[in-house]
Parts: sequence; structure tokens; C-alpha cells
Amino acid sequence: MRILLQFPEGLKQKALEHALRLESEGHEVFISASASYGACDLALDEAKNIKADKLIHFGHGEFHKVDFNVEYIEYHMDADLSILDKSLDALAKYNKIGLVTTIQHTHQLDDIKSFYERHNKTVIIGKPYGFAKKKGQILGCDIGSAASIDREVDAFVYFGGGMFHPLGALLSTTKPFIVVEPYTKQIENIDRHREIYRKRSRGRILGSIQAKKFAILVSTKNGQNNTQLGRLIKEKLSKANLIGEILVANTFDFDALNNMREFDAFVNTACPRISVDDPTRLSKPLLSANELMEVIKMKQEIVAMQNSKA
Ligand code: SF4
Repeated sequence: MRILLQFPEGLKQKALEHALRLESEGHEVFISASASYGACDLALDEAKNIKADKLIHFGHGEFHKVDFNVEYIEYHMDADLSILDKSLDALAKYNKIGLVTTIQHTHQLDDIKSFYERHNKTVIIGKPYGFAKKKGQILGCDIGSAASIDREVDAFVYFGGGMFHPLGALLSTTKPFIVVEPYTKQIENIDRHREIYRKRSRGRILGSIQAKKFAILVSTKNGQNNTQLGRLIKEKLSKANLIGEILVANTFDFDALNNMREFDAFVNTACPRISVDDPTRLSKPLLSANELMEVIKMKQEIVAMQNSKA
């Protein structure tokens, strides 16, 4: 069988090992060298181009159905749970805890739950929602298992590495949010980021009030493609007497976007985290679809105010 292997950045170091194993079983193996950040980003074009019989995607579970033979190999990590002791001080005031994690640690959630229960906490683990397929699992763009239990809990615990996943969940919940990081052994309450992100969003909206020409980003990645939303946004802009053009790419290159100087602002329909995580990469504001609607509304209010004074 001809197989294309695809690894996210953190697992690319394992590519040769898996390729040699599959070759020793008699398969012809190719390795995708493109950057990959999730199962929303399957190397389907590469697989079709080399006429592969199968794509093996490592590190993530299925995002959604695609018309290709894809095998998903999840990657689980057994993180040291002794860090949980250290989190008890930060959780002292809270009785009901909502527990969330990434797919790498969903198999450890029951042990974590038992630990907190032994320390007299009630632990709630949300059901899987949308693209996330396991209980308590969050993705950068799917935080349903956190948002759905927001009303029931006093605080959240995110167990896992990095800030990418907890930040998405933080912005969609209202309760104190504690990150328990087993690799750096840090415990951190990240609540302050809610205000930081709210201010940044406000800044993007206000920074786009004078904008007249908008570039709408539509990604061709299998799980990020939203051409329909791109068209809808273009229509909304046109109705508001504004210009909107749809820009298409697989992965958006920020230098290339910065070269498109005629546009006053960008609107993101691809991975929602592009507009949240690194707003400094673009020289013009990068709005979410909701932020754009706010911009249009504010522009209309300004015009109505000016007309009433005239
Ligand atoms: S957050 Fe972005 S990169 Fe991650 S799964 Fe969602 S769309 Fe893909």
C-alpha cells in the first residue's frame, strides 16, 4: 500500500521511526513535510497528488468526515500527576471543579477526577461537543465541553501543556480558570487574559472604523474551509457600501498578506485562533466575523448620527 504519513509539529521527530516500521511491513511510504496544526489540516492534496491509498494522520482524532482513506493515530501522553498536589491551594475556595484537557491526556481524566474527589471536590467533566470527540476534551476552536458546564462549576482546571487550548476555553467561560501544567510544573490562574483579549478585540474593532476595503480570508484546509461564510461576509460588506474581496490560501502567509496594501482590514473565516493568538503579525486589523458585524453596526450608527445633525 502507498501511504502518506502526516505529523503535527511536536511529533515530526517520530516520522522516520514510523516510516521505517511501515516500510519493513512492505508499504511504500511518503512523509508530508508541510506544517500541520490539527486534524482540520489533513494533507489530502499531497496524498491525492502522490496517488496514496491511505493517509495516516498522527496526533489528533478525527475532526470531520472526508472523502479519503484516513487513519487517525492519537498520541497519548502519561503526564506526571504529582503536580495535582500543588494545585490544591489555588483551588481551596472552590468546591465544584470543571475539568478539561487535550486529547493527549483525556485517558488521565478519570485519575485526575479521583484525586480531586479524594480532596473533597465535586468534579464535573463536560460531554464532547462538535469537533472534540472525547469527554472533557477541548480543541483550540472547540471548547464545548468547558462552555457547557460553565453554569454548574465554581472553577475550571485545565490539565495539560501550553496556553493555546486553555485560552480558547477561558474566553468562552466566566469562572476562575486554573492551568495545571505537568511539564513546567506550573499552576497559574489565567483569568486576567479575559480582559486582555476583550481589550484587544475592542482595539481591532475601533481600528477598523475608517476601513472601506476588507480582505476576507478563506482557507482551503479541509476542516477550516468556510467559503459560504466568506461569500456571506462579502455580501454584507457590499450591502453596507464597503468593498470585500475573498483571499484564498491553504496556509496564510502573513508577509504575503502585508504586501496587499490596498486593503484596510482583514476578516478571518479560517482557524478562529488566527485572529486571537498573534495579532501583531499583520500590519492591519484582523477581525473575526462577529467583530466585523460590530464594525459595520458602528459605522452605520455614525452615519445615522451625522445625518441627524445635518
Ligand atoms: S484551533 Fe485551528 S488549528 Fe486547531 S483544530 Fe481548530 S481550526 Fe484546527
